[in-house]
Amino acid sequence: MSDARLTALARESEAITRQHFGRAIRLFAPLYLSNECINNCSYCGFSRDNPILRVTLEAESVVREARHLAAEGFRNILLVAGEHPKFVSNGYLEACVRALVPEVPSIALEVAPMETPEYERLVQAGAEGLVVYQETYDRATYQRMHTAGPKKDFDWRLACPERAYAGGFRRIGIGALFGLQDWRTEAFALASHLEHLLRHCWKAQFTVSLPRLRPCAGGFVPEFHMDDREFIQLVCAFRVCFPQVGIVLSTREPAALRDALIPLGVTLMSAGSHTEPGGYTGEGKADLHLTIKGRQVKPEGSAEAATGQFEISDERSSAEIARLLQSKGFDPVWKDWDSAILAVSNS
Ligand code: SF4
Repeated sequence: MSDARLTALARESEAITRQHFGRAIRLFAPLYLSNECINNCSYCGFSRDNPILRVTLEAESVVREARHLAAEGFRNILLVAGEHPKFVSNGYLEACVRALVPEVPSIALEVAPMETPEYERLVQAGAEGLVVYQETYDRATYQRMHTAGPKKDFDWRLACPERAYAGGFRRIGIGALFGLQDWRTEAFALASHLEHLLRHCWKAQFTVSLPRLRPCAGGFVPEFHMDDREFIQLVCAFRVCFPQVGIVLSTREPAALRDALIPLGVTLMSAGSHTEPGGYTGEGKADLHLTIKGRQVKPEGSAEAATGQFEISDERSSAEIARLLQSKGFDPVWKDWDSAILAVSNS
């Protein structure tokens, strides 16, 4: 795309974003519950074959992590966990959500796909958002990247947003992981998926994420590259095609690029993120263990922290991001969702 066309696209994207979202940027933080996982996803640090430091936080530790985030200002927290039926059961997730309801007004989940009745129980417990990325929409690539575990089932994952909707979730996020396939092909498939969901799950608010791969345990090297300029093009193209859909920008992206994207189309940003369980407070340290070939092994010496899912790029604190937004004339919104709004909109 020529410079002139990209500039015109960016201007259009900016104008549409202001029209539909004003100058509000919602802030959220991921809270990792567990990095145990039975899947092998070649691109993920939590893959079961990686001999990393793992832990699953007790519900009390999750509450302490959430309190830390709430003290920073966050009211919108995304609970993240690997897929492990022993450690991350539905009962465990429900218990975590119930423990957090008095502390956090807006709770979303990014966990293994489930059946609709399981989603119903999580919604009843107090969760209202569900995030699930297809990773890649190319079936052959998907098969190559997912070599073991339930995640191998492409169609089970693809239908997950609709099961979540049927289970009562009204805030649903989808996305693709850029770096696994040609970015244009993935973007087209992601847009088609989003269009389908907007038609069939019309009571839900949708967000879209466009994460690029980051370094992680296992040392996966992406075969495909999307540079910063192309990333800006992608964000703006999604905004122009989907004026009312939220666009998420995570701390995977470098600070300078995040700053440049603030006015152009994004509506949700994570800030000050950690991608390891206990990352905000050091909770869970006593239970850290290595998993080597499926066996739990005590680490030699004193282990300080669990292994993160991937390396963060923008390491600025949430307070710094909030100040930055204000200095650019934007309103950092720590929460803009309430179950009362859901009750009215569904009546
Ligand atoms: S991407 Fe998810 S399912 Fe795959 S290894 Fe990582 S945590 Fe497990």
